Amino acid sequence: MGGTFDPIHYGHLVAAEGARYSFNLEKVFFIPAGNPPHKPDHIVSGSPVRYKMTCLAVASNPYFYSSPMEIERPGPSYTIDTVRTMMRLHPDKRIYFITGADAILEIFTWKDSRILLSMCNFVAATRPGYCLTALNEKLDSLPNEFKQNISFMEAPALAISSTDIRRRVREGKPIKYLLPESVEDYILENNLYQ
Ligand code: ATP
Ligand code: MG
Repeated sequence: MGGTFDPIHYGHLVAAEGARYSFNLEKVFFIPAGNPPHKPDHIVSGSPVRYKMTCLAVASNPYFYSSPMEIERPGPSYTIDTVRTMMRLHPDKRIYFITGADAILEIFTWKDSRILLSMCNFVAATRPGYCLTALNEKLDSLPNEFKQNISFMEAPALAISSTDIRRRVREGKPIKYLLPESVEDYILENNLYQ
């Protein structure tokens, strides 16, 4: 699962655990983006901080890992480079990229999206009861060989977002129960998002 993870929250963790269960995944790697090409204007916390929070968040799940591969790679973070690296590191494994349905809708703006879609499976988290019409219309233009690599999965905690958590911290509102306590403590101790 790739993302900015500024900060990582229960939406990400619940979606990843759901994907792990549904697709019988052996391991889930959370890979914070080093330099997110889609968020150039947005002020993003430094990558060591986002990586640290990701490590704290995955500690309690034996299937979950955090990887610094994108933050250690110079230049913008492209998913295709990450998937290629994962395939090289795990040549005998099938790779699933876990993402939100919002991100899947934008996949054609990603670098080498068609190659990417043919290379690995995508698991897209959608809100329960979410209308899939827009998604399906978008995907209709795709050849079948790509479409079959995309699966949708209901994610019960989709209302949680990093943007909302950052805003809450800034406004002095509680963030408890939206993310792991260890991450909450780290945010407060380091005065993030003030
Ligand atoms: P921001 O508000 O800063 O955009 P975010 O909460 O969307 O942050 P990202 O780091 O951008 O978090 O998301 C990483 C991935 O997780 C993306 O594919 C995104 O679609 C997905 N995602 C984000 N929030 C949720 C959620 N609550 N449930 C399931 N997937 C989510
Ligand atoms: Mg987002």
